Amino acid sequence: HYTDNAQQKKRSTLLESLNDWYQKLLEQNRTAQEYLHERGIYASSIERFGIGYAPTSPETLRFLEQRKLPTAEAIEQGAIGRGDDGRLFARFIERITFPIHSTSGAIVGFGGRTITGHQAKYVNSSQSAIFNKSRLLYAYHLAREAIYRRREIIVTEGYLDVVMLHQAGFTHAVATLGTALTAEHLPLLRKGEPKVYVAYDGDKAGRAAAFKAAKLLSTSGFDGGVILFEGGLDPADMIKSGQIEQLNALLHRPIPFIEFVITEMISAYDLQDPKAKETALHENIAFLKTLSPLLQEEYRPFIASKLGISPSLIQIGQKKNTVPQP
Ligand code: ATP
Ligand code: MN
Ligand code: MN
Ligand code: MN
Repeated sequence: HYTDNAQQKKRSTLLESLNDWYQKLLEQNRTAQEYLHERGIYASSIERFGIGYAPTSPETLRFLEQRKLPTAEAIEQGAIGRGDDGRLFARFIERITFPIHSTSGAIVGFGGRTITGHQAKYVNSSQSAIFNKSRLLYAYHLAREAIYRRREIIVTEGYLDVVMLHQAGFTHAVATLGTALTAEHLPLLRKGEPKVYVAYDGDKAGRAAAFKAAKLLSTSGFDGGVILFEGGLDPADMIKSGQIEQLNALLHRPIPFIEFVITEMISAYDLQDPKAKETALHENIAFLKTLSPLLQEEYRPFIASKLGISPSLIQIGQKKNTVPQP
């Protein structure tokens, strides 16, 4: 048995060689290059993010064999899998590859986007001891310096959002890896005490995810807010279409988390209906209880005016007497 450190080193070696190879293959593959060009990604970004191209399954298996990279390790590290029939197959097939790094900069997995219209648009490495997608943030190792310097972090949904944001100068952008933002992400988000900007896709799913993230972050004492995009757009789309000034303006006036949570909660109810209004009130009180006493006081008039009721109706009862420390 290896120590954890030795395991991590071994794993990184295999994934690093695979990534070097993917990067070389991208240089040789006109279709993949044209795809990235079409998406508005510069050569400098391809290099900065180590973007590559994964070929067919047999080619990948041959590469591992030629390099004498052990099958068991490649499976363990999520590069290949074994089917029910015992046959080996590559996990990333004809996909643009995005290496995913630990905070210390070692490759711990990949994300892959199809360029052949495969039904799964994205595939990620499988969950393992080293690749824990509920804790990792894509490109954190590249964004860290800017996050600490600006004391701001932009959290997006996708790899391409991060690549395009960095390309446009927003080098403090990261992404969750196809999962919701969870409590497990919070220790990393707290580092450097940045203001957090949640910049998810401007569609229904993005808005619902932003609501959950805003609730989690406000309850956990984070400062920051939500950026809303129109018409299903995401940050990558805005940058691709040259709307950088608009994006910059949006980033300058995020909707504060608490305000966003309250507004979204209330918008789900028909306030003409007294019973619905009462439910909305209870839901708001439950949320207020998760905040510090000062914030409870601050937002009471806001809720009252949104509901069209007297602030005296917002009785919080037992108050939380500790301020959550970010
Ligand atoms: P693109 O612009 O290339 O379509 P996107 O990042 O805008 O990509 P979304 O559909 O908005 O794609 O999804 C956001 C993120 O969710 C992706 O970057 C990826 O991490 C994850 N994701 C999307 N589809 C899948 C899928 N089928 N399986 C696993 N993860 C996925
Ligand atoms: Mn989306
Ligand atoms: Mn998107
Ligand atoms: Mn997109």
